[in-house]
Amino acid sequence: MADERHIETKAVHEGHSPDPATLSRGVPVYRTSSFVFKSAKHAADLFALKEFGNIYSRLTNPTNEILEIRVTGLEGGAASVAVASGTAAVFNTIVTLAKAGDEIVSAANLYGGTFTMFDAILPDLGITVRFADHRDPGSFEKLVNGKTRGIYIETIGNPVLDFTDIEAVSKIARKHHVPLIVDGTFTTPYLLRAIEHGADIVVNSLTKWLGGHGAAIGGIATDAGTFDWSDPKFELFNRPDRNYHGLRWAVDLPPDLRKIAFALRFRTVPLRNLGACLSPDNAWIFLQGIETLHVRMPLHSSNALKVAEHLSRHPKAAWVRYPGLPGDPTFPVASMYLKMGFGGMVVFGPRGGRAAGEKFIEGLTLFSHLANVGDARSLALHPASTSHSQLTDEQQRAGGLSPDLVRLSIGLENAEDILADIDRSLESL
Ligand SMILES: *Cc1c(COP(=O)(O)O)cnc(C)c1O
Repeated sequence: MADERHIETKAVHEGHSPDPATLSRGVPVYRTSSFVFKSAKHAADLFALKEFGNIYSRLTNPTNEILEIRVTGLEGGAASVAVASGTAAVFNTIVTLAKAGDEIVSAANLYGGTFTMFDAILPDLGITVRFADHRDPGSFEKLVNGKTRGIYIETIGNPVLDFTDIEAVSKIARKHHVPLIVDGTFTTPYLLRAIEHGADIVVNSLTKWLGGHGAAIGGIATDAGTFDWSDPKFELFNRPDRNYHGLRWAVDLPPDLRKIAFALRFRTVPLRNLGACLSPDNAWIFLQGIETLHVRMPLHSSNALKVAEHLSRHPKAAWVRYPGLPGDPTFPVASMYLKMGFGGMVVFGPRGGRAAGEKFIEGLTLFSHLANVGDARSLALHPASTSHSQLTDEQQRAGGLSPDLVRLSIGLENAEDILADIDRSLESL
């Protein structure tokens, strides 16, 4: 999508101009399940993919479409599909390109829910996930074999905020001709556009900073439009698809649609027939949030940097990790990619181990103790006893999670008030 407009302008305008029927300046919410066919031929053409148009809101909806065009523009991709959650965006991405007998190579430092999906659910469906060390791009290559159908990483990982060298992993993906899938939730397209660094597919949880206000759950997958699926090893794209009129996605489509074969198969197979569609009301909430993404992300980043610097000097903090602290182990890689800020997440360990971690969270008053990130409000969580409690101690350690670790999602409040709340709680330890 060649477009000279800057990201700030796209965040406000991409995908919507005043509705010609009503002249509404705001984005209308199309709260409808279904759309009328103009004729029998129109109906038949829509179902045969000969013409694009709305049929049923599980497949497409005009409000959702504005959101999809906007995120496509922000990410610099070719097409996006919005779904009910970030988790559904990840799952539908995997089942769009892999089936039983196939394999995925993934970083291990994943969002807790994604790790459980990869570690415990996909194997039961016959898809093996092999976990590499995100700090060592070469470790991904060692796990790639003839069954690999994709490599999966997050930009800033969980729960420790290590940044993965996207271009190094992308080179490995290119060499072995498998798509690179990047979860960009923690950076958002304002801080990082993974497609510019070699990602073929980007997934985002809209729930977090893109929506930005903790008001709804949603997710989206963006197809860069650059991956060639015609390699016969991608059987789902090359055999007649029983899910869709026997179509061979990498063979039968005209070139402009073949380019976005991933997005088309994602929409027409798992979204259509597994059904994790996004409500247009929630699409509207995310559009409202995205209009200020470029105003919020610099403030999330500068507030988080202040918190990280403060904790790095605090006698009651044993350690602190923030990708934007020059002494942080991930700073050399993160600073190659993140030119607009390092995001809103800070993790640290209060002195006193696990008990201090839990007590610190209970002493906070401005921060909310909950399992979300990317809200306008500051949030705190103790992952070892909550979001990552399903993992074994060994899996927790492999991901870099120590029992004292406190995860902070720094909000848009005044920085002095945020620091005062942290100090009050640390003093009480
Ligand atoms: C939250 C999150 C997800 C899952 O998104 P939901 O919208 O909660 O389903 C996936 N990846 C990352 C990095 C996340 O932070």
